[in-house]
Amino acid sequence: MNSLRRRWILRIPALLTAPHLSSLYAAPAAVLETDPDARAVGYVTDAKRVDPARYPLYSAPQQCANCQLFSGAADGGPGLCTLFKGRTVTSNGWCKAYQAAI
Ligand code: SF4
Repeated sequence: MNSLRRRWILRIPALLTAPHLSSLYAAPAAVLETDPDARAVGYVTDAKRVDPARYPLYSAPQQCANCQLFSGAADGGPGLCTLFKGRTVTSNGWCKAYQAAI
């Protein structure tokens, strides 16, 4: 094996673990209830905590899992919401932008 090829092969593990490449595989960030855009729509990570006095249009079983803007499993875990571009919400969550899935 020539020395140039050998040097490139030896660099592969370092290239694959380089910080700038690991960001390509990072999981989407979760929306926090304290985020300004989440507060603006009253997002909560658990629909059981929706304040009915503040959001009288809320009714069970509304939650992210059965909202048109959600894509993910209805298992209490995270899924993407088109309202929060590229970030995740919990399938048990809710916000006032809820739209019932058809
Ligand atoms: S728009 Fe729908 S999926 Fe997104 S946070 Fe609100 S209720 Fe959940």
